[in-house]
Amino acid sequence: MGSFVDQVKKSDLNGTSLAEKNVTVVFVLGGPGSGKGTQCAKIVETFGFTHLSAGDLLRAEITSGSENGTMIQNMIKDGKIVPSEVTIKLLEQAMLKNANDKFLIDGFPRNEENRAAFELVTGISPAFVLCLDCPEEDMEKRLLGRNQGREDDNIVTIRKRFKVFLESSLPVIEYYDSIGKVRKINAAKQVDEVFADVESVFTKLFKKINV
Ligand code: UDP
Ligand code: MG
Repeated sequence: MGSFVDQVKKSDLNGTSLAEKNVTVVFVLGGPGSGKGTQCAKIVETFGFTHLSAGDLLRAEITSGSENGTMIQNMIKDGKIVPSEVTIKLLEQAMLKNANDKFLIDGFPRNEENRAAFELVTGISPAFVLCLDCPEEDMEKRLLGRNQGREDDNIVTIRKRFKVFLESSLPVIEYYDSIGKVRKINAAKQVDEVFADVESVFTKLFKKINV
């Protein structure tokens, strides 16, 4: 059959499936500008995870000139959520080609459909979900100030991204909260202060590297 689930299952590289690889995944969620990428970099250094940013994988797909590139570019420009099958395939491939077995997935799942499809297709449920909690006002200032040359860091798209976060992504956090998997951190502070709290969450389950 040509269903989305079958297609993604067949896309496993070299016949190795993710289910066999037995990976540990932590989802890192929070609004646009809540500091997901910044905190992920510190978690990588301290706990030896591999960081997979769904947004970065999608942006790389645009620049690689893939057949989906234009569609992805238009959706990102408009703050919309790219179809699950595209994002899941990129995440799955990234996990298969990396020898590490510990992954931070940053900025995904962004809606209930993303979440259900990922769990169904990969068979992976997250160890926990790190949730970076930050007021919209602070996030807006950070996004407008960061100047990373992103086409979606303009006030019009930022407002759309906030709306999508509230309407589609918060329910994902609420779902994981209902099964006791959310670790919520106050992200409206300096990077190192936020990381101190992130560190104490990770220390409960994971060992530090090079201490
Ligand atoms: N995006 C998506 N699916 C994902 C992750 C990102 O469609 O799983 C798109 C979406 O349009 C989003 C944009 O990529 O607004 C930027 O996402 P990223 O996580 O890089 O930005 P953030 O919201 O963290 O600033
Ligand atoms: Mg990001």
